[in-house]
Amino acid sequence: MLKQRPLVIETLTALGLILAPFILPHLGFAPNTINRILVWGLFGIGFDILFGFTGLLSFGQSAFYGTGGFVAAYLLTQAGFPHVVTSLFIGMIASAAVGYLVGLIALRRTGIYFAMITVAIAEVFFFVEFNPLADWTGGENGLPGVPTPHFDLGFADFQFNTSWSLYVFLAFWYFLGIVVGLRIVRSPVGTILRAVRENPMRASAVGHNIHSYKLTAFVIAAAYAGFAGGLLGVMQAFMPPDAFMFHTSAELVMMTAIGGTGTLFGTLVGAGVWLFLQDFLQAALGLGAAWKLVLGVVFVLLVCFLRHGIIGGIADLYRLAVGKRAHREPVAAPASALTAEEEQEVAEAELAKEPDPFPMAPVHRASDGYSGPILQATGLTKRYGGLLANSKIDFTVNHGELRGIIGPNGAGKSTFFKMLTCEVAPTSGKIVFEGLDITGMNVTDVCQLGLTKSYQVNQLFSALTVRENLTIAALSELRGKFRLDIFRSLGNIPGLSEQVQRTLELVNLTTRPDTPVSELAYGEKRRLEIGLALATSPSLLLLDEPLAGMSPRERVETVKLLKSISKGRTMIIIDHDMDALFELAERVTVLQEGRVLVEGTPDEIKNNAAVQEAYLGGVNGVLTA
Ligand code: ADP
Repeated sequence: MLKQRPLVIETLTALGLILAPFILPHLGFAPNTINRILVWGLFGIGFDILFGFTGLLSFGQSAFYGTGGFVAAYLLTQAGFPHVVTSLFIGMIASAAVGYLVGLIALRRTGIYFAMITVAIAEVFFFVEFNPLADWTGGENGLPGVPTPHFDLGFADFQFNTSWSLYVFLAFWYFLGIVVGLRIVRSPVGTILRAVRENPMRASAVGHNIHSYKLTAFVIAAAYAGFAGGLLGVMQAFMPPDAFMFHTSAELVMMTAIGGTGTLFGTLVGAGVWLFLQDFLQAALGLGAAWKLVLGVVFVLLVCFLRHGIIGGIADLYRLAVGKRAHREPVAAPASALTAEEEQEVAEAELAKEPDPFPMAPVHRASDGYSGPILQATGLTKRYGGLLANSKIDFTVNHGELRGIIGPNGAGKSTFFKMLTCEVAPTSGKIVFEGLDITGMNVTDVCQLGLTKSYQVNQLFSALTVRENLTIAALSELRGKFRLDIFRSLGNIPGLSEQVQRTLELVNLTTRPDTPVSELAYGEKRRLEIGLALATSPSLLLLDEPLAGMSPRERVETVKLLKSISKGRTMIIIDHDMDALFELAERVTVLQEGRVLVEGTPDEIKNNAAVQEAYLGGVNGVLTA
């Protein structure tokens, strides 16, 4: 709904900002409180892009809030710089630059270690502000005398020196911040940020440089923080040293958690509740210092009972009221209008169709003039401590071939695939793909070259829809591993919707494009798992047990699907279902105890005594299972 009418949110925001001064004072909000809410709200837009969209919880945003604020305030108070808005932008740029440097360090770790690094770095900034830089920052006194903005347009001089005129100034910047933030989250970069949040490992495996995307989110959050910090000084006519303090970062996290993450508006709503309660408990109820205790209890209750924050709670109520399926993504596409039975019928009809003779041709990325095998591995060995998972494997696959790999559990098949896609580095040996030595490369670069795999255990972006999943994969082929097109609309990427649609058709999910992955049946998830790999247009596709866990009927459907996919494509399939694999593959390689036992046509393999030995413990006869 919102995707198709993207200006709805912007219009509602503008309306809300216009109406707020007429409504909020009647609810007990002082003008100064409303202004503070706007500053927090702007601060929180960047933080939500980092936390809500990318899944990176930073407890160090005060470092950037303080940096932007003090740079702007220093320029305006100490350096005699006359332009308020220009100073705010300089503060923002300084903060973004600092964010880039901090991000380079902090993003080397994930999870709790990332969070702890951000805390430590923010503490360093706080110390530096108070001690070595006290002459510039005013130390514990802060910087008083920050001027209010005014614009002399010749015919009129606009002064923003009262609470309500400052509201207009702050509301303008908040609105601009939301417009920019919405563009970012609706851009290809925004889509990939959500992929990073959902499944960073798969986001890299489908060809995205997730480190650069995380750094982008970190810098964006720092830039928003820097600008908001500058506005804080302007709003209060004083830049307070506590902008740099840990409790600023902690309050930001708590306000966002109260309001709701992944919506861009969470901090604004959370700050509204927080500051209102603070005023109400302190002044109206006269609780004095005990207000923090009550606020703490309210926070715990809100987070426990509204797991997706106030906005998430309202959205859930709305969905309940209109009987819609629960789905939290702010840029969600509409649900399918078909019932489950109708979808099943359409899926069966799709399956009954003859496969397209030329399904989604793979992109050929080989170096010009190369005519050798598509893949050649020599002496490939992987040692885990004392265990040899793979030992001196020589393996060649030609263009257009469909190769099967079988072997008992623990034979080293998955390890072999992981080495071929550069997920794990071989202990020794060499891998040449399309004439290029890819040994030691990373999984992202190898996917960009046209070699990827589907996983034995599904690796999907679970909270996103089928279409969004395939879009994430297709974007890597269409945009490369990193591009900073943060203001580009997904609709403006040539070939994207066609590529997603072709993949949907290829994996028989045309009736489920807007269903969240978590609501798919297992067989559909397996097909989407293959679809993710396919959407990157690989010239060599590796499938690790694509039939694993499927019912007999789903197996028949999936074998048909694999036959259709294999046309004009080179594929290697690992599976335990030998009937299916012998039906599909032209040649089969058998691995045992990390070595190649034998290689040949399905008939040769079925009748091979060594294979009989490996599988059936030496019972002679044709291998059937
Ligand atoms: P298969 O896919 O044929 O079942 P795997 O490649 O998963 O076999 O495993 C081959 C051997 O390598 C097994 O003995 C397994 O325990 C071992 N192995 C696989 N991955 C690791 C790892 N990350 N660390 C240590 N041992 C591993």
